[in-house]
Amino acid sequence: MDTALAKAWVAAAADAVSAEAEHLSRLDAAIGDGDHGTNMDRGLTGARTAVDGLEADGPGPVLVKTGMTMISRVGGASGPLYGTLLRTAGKRLEGTEAGVADLAAALRAGLEAVQKMGAAKPGDKTLVDALYPAVEALEKAAGQGTPLSEAAEAAAAAAEQGAQATVPLQARKGRASYLGERSIGHEDPGAASSALLMRALAGVSGA
Ligand code: ADP
Ligand code: MG
Ligand code: MG
Repeated sequence: MDTALAKAWVAAAADAVSAEAEHLSRLDAAIGDGDHGTNMDRGLTGARTAVDGLEADGPGPVLVKTGMTMISRVGGASGPLYGTLLRTAGKRLEGTEAGVADLAAALRAGLEAVQKMGAAKPGDKTLVDALYPAVEALEKAAGQGTPLSEAAEAAAAAAEQGAQATVPLQARKGRASYLGERSIGHEDPGAASSALLMRALAGVSGA
């Protein structure tokens, strides 16, 4: 992944989230306050503009800028969480180009920072349920020497499965946890948006 691919990822993620904003907010209306789609749309649309004119000599600064924009533009839980994910991952990416192993390590560091911030483990019905298996898929692909296109495809599929698997879970973190057992039977909106982000990566990586 070079600078151009990182910018393309941010743009594709912004497009995907814009297209699905209503759906994401509807998921959030069922178990939260109904703003997840507008939150993510505002954050990523801002990030796309911010990185568009950014002069960066590698993917790292692009992800850092995206994360900072999410933190500053999104007031909800998802802004600081996605912001921390991308800022931490971006700081890990040095040099003009990142391979699958670099990206896996960077996103693992980002995920760990997210888990530290929000104290969510897999199974708590949060965006961690989509990101965790996606990072594991990237790590596995890196170990096998798989090219980015296939690695990103595997990560997207794992994130989508992880998001779907939140449906029968009871939320233990975030706003949805206030509902207790009534959170069961709905897909977590943050897990759904994480799956969109990983699918966007697969799209621009040319699977
Ligand atoms: P808010 O809940 O403040 O309105 P959003 O609706 O934008 O924020 O985001 C909600 C999503 O944030 C949830 O669906 C969940 O995936 C994620 N989330 C909330 N709290 C946590 C947490 N402590 N750890 C990880 N993810 C969380
Ligand atoms: Mg919300
Ligand atoms: Mg909110």
